[in-house]
Amino acid sequence: MYDIGIIGGGTAGMTAAIYGQRAGKRTIIIEGSGFGGQIVSSTNVENYPGIASVSGSEFSMNLLDQAMKLGAETEMEQVTGIRDEGPIKVIETTGKEYPCRSVILATGVTHRHLGVPGEERLTGAGVSYCATCDGAFFRGKEVAVVGGGSTALQDAEFLSNYCSKVYLIHRRDEFRGENSIVKRLEQKENVEFILSATVKEIVGENAVEALILNHKKTGEESRLPVSGVFIAVGQIPQNDRFADVVKLDGSGFILAAEDCMTSHPGIFAAGDCRTKEVRQLTTAAADGAVAALAACKYTDTLI
Ligand code: NAP
Repeated sequence: MYDIGIIGGGTAGMTAAIYGQRAGKRTIIIEGSGFGGQIVSSTNVENYPGIASVSGSEFSMNLLDQAMKLGAETEMEQVTGIRDEGPIKVIETTGKEYPCRSVILATGVTHRHLGVPGEERLTGAGVSYCATCDGAFFRGKEVAVVGGGSTALQDAEFLSNYCSKVYLIHRRDEFRGENSIVKRLEQKENVEFILSATVKEIVGENAVEALILNHKKTGEESRLPVSGVFIAVGQIPQNDRFADVVKLDGSGFILAAEDCMTSHPGIFAAGDCRTKEVRQLTTAAADGAVAALAACKYTDTLI
């Protein structure tokens, strides 16, 4: 029997394990596809307080090492659901079952991909899904942002401070994101909107060199030379398998506030998988701590 079963081995989940172990609880992290979470794909993390610069993989491996040295157990398995058995929650995987007194859902999100040729091959070589993580590497260069939501708008604004030129490519004529940011972007000399256009292909041998665009209104194709492309076409949570035990919002994020409490007593949600405004490494770590301490308090009531 585990005191805290953590589903997801990203920053939130591993931080939760560190806090759980330090509080003397028996903790397990169950991860389906590789420990580290989204940050693993970031070449350089420069916005984590106290660490001037570290690669995403080194950061996450340090976190995993820290959790394991404290005694956290780990398993690589696909979680399929949670079964509620009164005070016990049973984490079900494809092969096993893990009875736990409390559960922390730290399943993160997956960036939606465009699914165009070149995207996967050039990820980390000019294709990025995180402007705040990777923007500084494109100082003085021409880049593109794809998307029309608030993330794309904010990314374009952020990148305009570093890059000589930022093309904001959106598939419609109107942005979905905040109008106030659109207005600010319109005032920026180095930002250009390319509307009613989609990316057909990302080209480059070893790094991004250009985008092939389809212009929906004219049916024409064009080549846009850029050194980087930031794809911000939404994020996909993967929480459907928990919908029978915790409430999700309309987009599939787990309904939980800053206290990380879900609709189900004893089940907590930490990091990007929950409803929240700011999805960053620091907020994922903060959630891990908050959720673990709440889980410790909850398990103490069962004894
Ligand atoms: P989002 O609001 O879902 O927007 C995704 C954008 O990508 C949309 O403009 C969509 O186009 C476009 N898109 C989707 N699939 C595409 C595809 N295959 N090809 C081209 N374009 C595609 O996602 P988000 O911007 O990441 O925001 C997610 C949530 O976080 C939203 O609720 C947002 O309000 C919130 N957010 C809030 C803040 C804040 O400061 N308050 C900041 C960032 C995000 P269409 O418009 O045509 O559908």
